[in-house]
Amino acid sequence: MTMASSRQIELAREAGKRIHHFHGGLRLRHNKKISCLDAVERPPLPAVLVVPLLQHAGDVAEALVHVGDTVLKGQPIGQCEPCATIHSPVSGVIESIEDRPMSHPSGQKGPCVVIRPDGKEQWIELKPLDNWLDADPDCLITQIQSCGLAGLGGAVFPTHAKMRDGRDRKTHTLILNGVECEPYISCDEMLMREQPDKIILGARVLRRVLGAEHVIIAIEDQMGSVQRSLTACAEFAESENISVIKVPKIYPEGGERQLVQVLTGLEVPAGGRPSDLGLICQNVATAAAVAEAVTEGKPLIERYITVTGNGVTHPRNYLALFGTPVSHLVDCCGGYTADVARLVVGGPMMGYPLESDSAPVVKASNCILALSHQDIAEPQPEMPCIRCGECARVCPAMLLPQQLHLQIKNDLWKPLEEYGVGMH
Ligand code: SF4
Repeated sequence: MTMASSRQIELAREAGKRIHHFHGGLRLRHNKKISCLDAVERPPLPAVLVVPLLQHAGDVAEALVHVGDTVLKGQPIGQCEPCATIHSPVSGVIESIEDRPMSHPSGQKGPCVVIRPDGKEQWIELKPLDNWLDADPDCLITQIQSCGLAGLGGAVFPTHAKMRDGRDRKTHTLILNGVECEPYISCDEMLMREQPDKIILGARVLRRVLGAEHVIIAIEDQMGSVQRSLTACAEFAESENISVIKVPKIYPEGGERQLVQVLTGLEVPAGGRPSDLGLICQNVATAAAVAEAVTEGKPLIERYITVTGNGVTHPRNYLALFGTPVSHLVDCCGGYTADVARLVVGGPMMGYPLESDSAPVVKASNCILALSHQDIAEPQPEMPCIRCGECARVCPAMLLPQQLHLQIKNDLWKPLEEYGVGMH
C-alpha cells in the first residue's frame, strides 16, 4: 500500500476549489427523466416483507426473533457485530425464517425474516438525541450504529465504522456524493430535490462526528435546481463551509475514487482509502438517514428507489420499505410492458441481473431496471483484438484490457500480477 504524503493531505484541503479530471470515462445517455416526473410516494404495504439477514458488507446477521413473535416497526430483528443492525420495517408477525432469493450479485438464496404486516404500523419507542449539537462524537456514532446505518450509495459499508475511522484519522473534509453517474438511476436526485434540508442536517451531524472543517456536496451539472435548494438550506441552517459543487456528467464520476480525483486532482493511494488524504465520502442518502437516526431516533428501514426502464409501464421513484418484493413495486408501477426482457438491480453499467422478482428491496437497492428486448444487444461472436487501444483509453482505473486479454488467452497468469490482477 502507498501512503499519502503530508503534501498530498495539504493539497486535499483544497478540495472543490477547482474541478480536475480522471482518466478515461464515458459520456452516456442519461435516461433519467422518465422516472422523475412524479413526486416520490410510499407504495401500499405488500402482503409479506422478506427481510434478508445479509444487507451490508460483512457477515450474515443473527436473527433476534423467532417464528410466531410479534414485532413493532423499527424493532431490531438481526444483529451482527460490528456490522449494521437490521430492523423490522413494519409491525406484524414473524411468519418464517428461511432461505429465500436475495437481491445480491451472487444470485444465491440466503436467510431471510418473513414478516406479515398487521397494518397498524406501530413503532417502537424512538429515542432521538435531543442535544445532538452538543453531543459527544462517540455518542453520535453509537446512535448511528444502533439505527443500522450502512452506506446507501451501493457499498453498504457500516456507517458507524467509516465514521469512527474518519474521526480517528483526523478528517478535514466530508464529501457528500450526490453524483449519480449511472444512466436511469434518479433516486438520489429526487431525494436532493425533495429533502435538501434533511441532507444538510445529516451533513452537520456527520461533520460534528468527524470534526471536519469543510463539507462538499458534489452533484452533477445537469441536476437543475438541486444546487440552489441545497445551498439555500445550508444558508438557512447558518451552516458555514458547506459548498455544493457541480461536476461534469461523465461515467463513472460518482465512483468514490474518481470523485476524489475530480475534486482534488489527487489519486487515492493504491490499496488505500480517501481517509488517507483526510477525506471521508458518504452518499447523500446516507446523510439524510443520519439526520433521521440522530434527530428522530429512526432506524434505517426504507429508502428511495428508482423503478424504471422500457420494461416497466410507469417508471418512477418510491420510498420503499426494505423487504418489499420487487414484484410489488413493479405492480405499483403498472406492471411490466409486453417486451420486458431482463431485470437488473442497479444501473446498466454496474448493476447485476435479478433472477426472480420475488427478491426484496434491501439497503443497497438504489434501482430496479426492467430492460426491454430493444435495450439489449444480441450476443456477438468473439472477434480478435486488433489492439486499437480504445478500451485502455476509456478505462478509469488505467488498466490495459488488451494486455490482460492477451495474457489470459495465453495462460500467462504470473505477469498479470504486474497489472494488479489478483491471483487465486
Ligand atoms: S480489446 Fe481493446 S484494444 Fe482490443 S480491439 Fe477491443 S477495444 Fe481495441
